[in-house]
Amino acid sequence: MTKIKPKCFYKMEAAVNAQGFLLPCCWCDQPWTLEQEHFKPLVQDKFHLSKVKNINEVIYSDEWQTFKKDLQESNIKKLPPVCIKQCEEKEGKNKQSKIQRYIDKNSVRDEVR
Ligand code: SF4
Repeated sequence: MTKIKPKCFYKMEAAVNAQGFLLPCCWCDQPWTLEQEHFKPLVQDKFHLSKVKNINEVIYSDEWQTFKKDLQESNIKKLPPVCIKQCEEKEGKNKQSKIQRYIDKNSVRDEVR
């Protein structure tokens, strides 16, 4: 059974895309994810950042909480493929993700977590 270990619960930070929507992580900012049946409710017009007073209105909405529950329960049928690709829990060996951190304008350090 496919199990998800959502990095957005402990490592990845939320993102804001160029269209002005909050996303659970930057990996979701792809048309095939934004248009996915069960992801689409997260980016409804009413959640556009110009229409909310603060991001709590988005994060604690029923739609976002339903998505969170689907992640917690590894409800694969309701999750976009990106969540399986990026956050599937691999027995004995979780995928490593490479994060680049910019130390200063002249050097880049690669960090593996
Ligand atoms: S890909 Fe899905 S599960 Fe992974 S961090 Fe992003 S929203 Fe969370």
